Amino acid sequence: MLICREQSKEVERNRGTIVKTYTHLIFFIGCIFLTNLKAEVNEVNLDAKYSGIVRMIIDEAMKDSSAWERLAYMCDTFGPRLSGSDNLEKALNWITEQMKSDGLDNIQRDEVMVPVWIRGNESCSLISPRKSKMNFMSYGGSIATPVEGITAPVLVVNSFEDLQNKANEAKGKIVVYNVPFIHYGQAVQFRWSGHLKAAEAGAVASLVRSVSPIGFQLPHTGSVADYVDSIPKIPHGAITLEDAEMLQRMQNRGQEPVIHLFLEARTEPDKLSYNVMGEIIGSMVPGEIIAIGGHIDSWDAGTGAQDDAGGCIATWQAVKLLKKLGLKPKRTIRVVMWANEENGSRGGKYYAEKHKHEKHHLMLEFDAGVFSPKSIGFRGPDSLFDIVSTFQPFLAQVEPNFSIYKGGWGVDIDPMHKLGIPAMTFNTDDSGRYFWYHHADSDTPDKIDPKDLNKCIAAIAIAVFLYADI
Ligand SMILES: [Zn+2]
Repeated sequence: MLICREQSKEVERNRGTIVKTYTHLIFFIGCIFLTNLKAEVNEVNLDAKYSGIVRMIIDEAMKDSSAWERLAYMCDTFGPRLSGSDNLEKALNWITEQMKSDGLDNIQRDEVMVPVWIRGNESCSLISPRKSKMNFMSYGGSIATPVEGITAPVLVVNSFEDLQNKANEAKGKIVVYNVPFIHYGQAVQFRWSGHLKAAEAGAVASLVRSVSPIGFQLPHTGSVADYVDSIPKIPHGAITLEDAEMLQRMQNRGQEPVIHLFLEARTEPDKLSYNVMGEIIGSMVPGEIIAIGGHIDSWDAGTGAQDDAGGCIATWQAVKLLKKLGLKPKRTIRVVMWANEENGSRGGKYYAEKHKHEKHHLMLEFDAGVFSPKSIGFRGPDSLFDIVSTFQPFLAQVEPNFSIYKGGWGVDIDPMHKLGIPAMTFNTDDSGRYFWYHHADSDTPDKIDPKDLNKCIAAIAIAVFLYADI
């Protein structure tokens, strides 16, 4: 009996397991069926509904040369657009008028208080073992030297650890960080906080081998961490790869090079500037917004063509293209030229402050340099990522290997993303070239291939149109 009872319990247990397994199996098959069906319906519907539109966008973008002409005109006519400069204000006025002539809706100029840093005259010279001018750019936010400049011997270091190990040699010297560029995040830390660490060790100024994989005697400027009251404030700037290597060789030989540094740089009170934006009003839910754009400010080097006139013009032209083709998505597409990214990130912060109560579905930023389109990074719920992933076959018609991944970044869109709005980052394949031009006099329109720009416009127009319409 005991055996029988145990056997029947076993049968019941098995039966229960079979029923559970069977139920799970049906549920599992059902899920596969529904997922497949959903995917199939999505693809079929998307293809049927949008393939003609996508073709139209690509054809129109590729035959149009007005985007590159507009970019070159803006860079040539107004020059570099440092926040707080007259150049930037003139460019913003011109953009406002151009958006009107494009027929964009709801053109707005939102007030943004931007920082004002003025470079003034500056120079860097080798005094010993020979006299020679060195190409130099101070970093944005740096303080000036005394009017007579600073003349001091050099201490070359190769890392922050190296500086720590040589801390007893740094007092009264100009610290030079000679660190080769492997990638931006690794190299930029010496620009960002090199002045604070050098000052802590007793240095009188700090210089950084430019954050770039190539030299060609070009200094590259950029932003730095704010000075802090507990650490002496010292001037901070960029020298070229060639000069950093020369100073290294001199130090290695025991030659003790001496440098003279002169900076007039100054910071003035914040000034009024603007985020400028225009729209295509949505046909069904105009109150729901897809905001796309780039930052219109640049460093006062070159004419800020790649960083970020290209991103501004590409997103703006994508909207102009949709308008020209008479394509009205269900939701509103808004193009924004953010006023201050390089030295303060105020454009994106002010945008979030002013517009956070409007219903946004997406923020897209293009600030990667104009090369052939490569990918879209998406940060948002998985369900939306699945939808964005269905755009890939359309985007592959612009660039065959175009990919869509989870991730991305964007200084101007992050304040809205932090409030829960999905974010999209548009990336290009620069083959390592972006940092040849980044924040340097080499950043001019001739570095942008008109065909690449048109492809970027096509890809952005497709992605935002689908997102705004589906
Ligand atoms: Zn940028």
